Amino acid sequence: MRIYISVDMEGVAGIVDWAQCIADGEDYALGRDLLVGEVNAAIDGALAAGATHVMVNDAHSVMRNLPPGALAGRASYLSGRFKPRYMMEGLDSSYDAAVFLGYHAAMASPGVLSHTYNPRAIANVAINGVTTGEAGLNALVAQHFGVPVAVITGDQHVGPEAAPFCPGIAAVEVKTSISRYAASHEHPLTARELIRDGVTAALGRLESLAPPSIAMPAAIEVTFLSPDMAEQATWIRDVTRTDSRTVTLRGDDPLRLFQAFITLVFLTRSLIETR
Ligand SMILES: [Zn+2]
Repeated sequence: MRIYISVDMEGVAGIVDWAQCIADGEDYALGRDLLVGEVNAAIDGALAAGATHVMVNDAHSVMRNLPPGALAGRASYLSGRFKPRYMMEGLDSSYDAAVFLGYHAAMASPGVLSHTYNPRAIANVAINGVTTGEAGLNALVAQHFGVPVAVITGDQHVGPEAAPFCPGIAAVEVKTSISRYAASHEHPLTARELIRDGVTAALGRLESLAPPSIAMPAAIEVTFLSPDMAEQATWIRDVTRTDSRTVTLRGDDPLRLFQAFITLVFLTRSLIETR
């Protein structure tokens, strides 16, 4: 059994602030320790379910948050920036299941450190009319390769947000969001236990899990913070302006749709104010 783990950081128990999850943040060392603990719990859970290969794709910020030698089970590690498939780089049809670890809520949600790919550019994303966070967008890649998404971990918002796009996905709630910068957390040891057991259980019923099946052709609606970002987004093929700050991206190929969305994320970075 080959298992793919896409690792974000904002959804890890104990994390509530950017200072804990950006490399030059004053509390990054703590955030990183908490992250390693949860990643290893997911790896252990996969191994207990019979995994013979585990790939960890570091998908947070500059995407080199994990000390490779600290990964359990001699898991393979994919790291670094400017990956064309970003949070889903490295996934292919040889994998039996994917796990989304340490995920956070969509920008439109009150979850901890909520955002959708870029908090300084994107106000909302909807696929076929349903608001989505990163899980739903990443599900497009899993759909292309026919890989089910078995588990998502994070606060109480990530499971319900992923459910419309990832059929049968199990949610492991390691903290309860109180506001965008506050949460009540499970103790890290409890969070790790929940993740390990949750992953083992979900992979144990893999036979009953189906890959994402988002209806195609699909429409991805992206609302930006400013109209000039929406204007710039229309420079990409198959993107049309639908109102002052919103564009719609249409297509019938899930992987092309995902890559067009990622292009739009990269492109609009040029318009972000740094003050
Ligand atoms: Zn992140």
